[in-house]
Amino acid sequence: MIQCTAVALLPPPDYIAEQATPERPANTAHVSCELGEHDDDHAQLLWMEDERGGAVWARWNANSTRIEFLPWCGGYHPDRDEACGLFATHPAGHSFEVVDPVREALRDLLSGASPHVFLSDDRPPLLPGRDDPDGP
Ligand SMILES: [Zn+2]
Ligand SMILES: [Zn+2]
Repeated sequence: MIQCTAVALLPPPDYIAEQATPERPANTAHVSCELGEHDDDHAQLLWMEDERGGAVWARWNANSTRIEFLPWCGGYHPDRDEACGLFATHPAGHSFEVVDPVREALRDLLSGASPHVFLSDDRPPLLPGRDDPDGP
């Protein structure tokens, strides 16, 4: 399942906007949807609140944007030992079923150019000298 490509701009919070000047404007932030292709509101995780059993998400559609806390999805992929990183009642597939084609293209490009930094698809690149037992 291909990842949704929706992007939206969020205005800065009021306490930041109040400090803006023409010489020092408050920047907007962008959010990009993390869901698989879907029909309803888009979503990007803003920050996790595991003590509450979920996370705060930006949700938006063509008419409005909102910030809301949502509990975690209970989806789990036993073969990959991976929990779904989306919220309960999310549309489309679980996060482990969603493929970001840009991220996959970058992975393919970088793994061909720098295969020594990729151990496998399941591990992040090594930080030379920190995590690499063969490093300096
Ligand atoms: Zn979306
Ligand atoms: Zn899920």
